[in-house]
Amino acid sequence: MVEKVYVTYNEIHKLCQKSAEEILNRFQPNLMIAIGGGGYVPARILRSFLKRPSGPNIPIQAIGLSLYESLPPSDPSAPSTPVETPGTKVTRTQWLDLSSLSMSNLVGKNILIVDEVDDTRTTLQYAVTELEKDVEEARKNLGLEGETKFAVYVLHNKNKPKKGHLPEAMVKEGRYMAAETVPGNCWVCYPWEALLVLYESTLLVRTMLTV
Ligand code: 5GP
Repeated sequence: MVEKVYVTYNEIHKLCQKSAEEILNRFQPNLMIAIGGGGYVPARILRSFLKRPSGPNIPIQAIGLSLYESLPPSDPSAPSTPVETPGTKVTRTQWLDLSSLSMSNLVGKNILIVDEVDDTRTTLQYAVTELEKDVEEARKNLGLEGETKFAVYVLHNKNKPKKGHLPEAMVKEGRYMAAETVPGNCWVCYPWEALLVLYESTLLVRTMLTV
């Protein structure tokens, strides 16, 4: 039986707040690439905490990668947060705009890749390898100078042996950051996946609307 760990929006906001300082100390990103769908919300929250006074907002680009396939719930009539099972290969559902103009914005930058959870690390390995390849190709084709550096940020890292690997330099230089480590055999349930919305929240919203 997989242990489910439920996280709230508030806890995620606090994790991002706590991590922002560490990210700024270690990396100073110019741009974020959120892996959809789980990386979108953390990337947006991080953007607020990473913004320096009178500095620009850090742009967020999105890529879509899919490794997991949904398992039918044991009781299909029960709305709950579904646990998923790993697929075997990463599928691209969305990728960068590979036009010269768009790619020239990535060359020579510090790029933070954001996802919600690092499980087998297959998705992160794919994202880092493919993004490094595409940016290096664009750098050569456009004749641009400057090293592009990638870092990875996840809310949760599962404590387990990983199938995927990240570049040695990334790990050594502290460019892999996880806000929290969770047990390897758990399933983290994120609030944006919830199918059951808490009654208390509805009550609170109703109360606010009627005041
Ligand atoms: P990995 O490639 O590291 O095995 O899996 C990464 C992706 O699988 C995540 O981006 C996420 O979509 C999904 N995933 C893996 N473990 C969990 C989990 O515990 N909870 C949720 N909600 N998604 C997970």
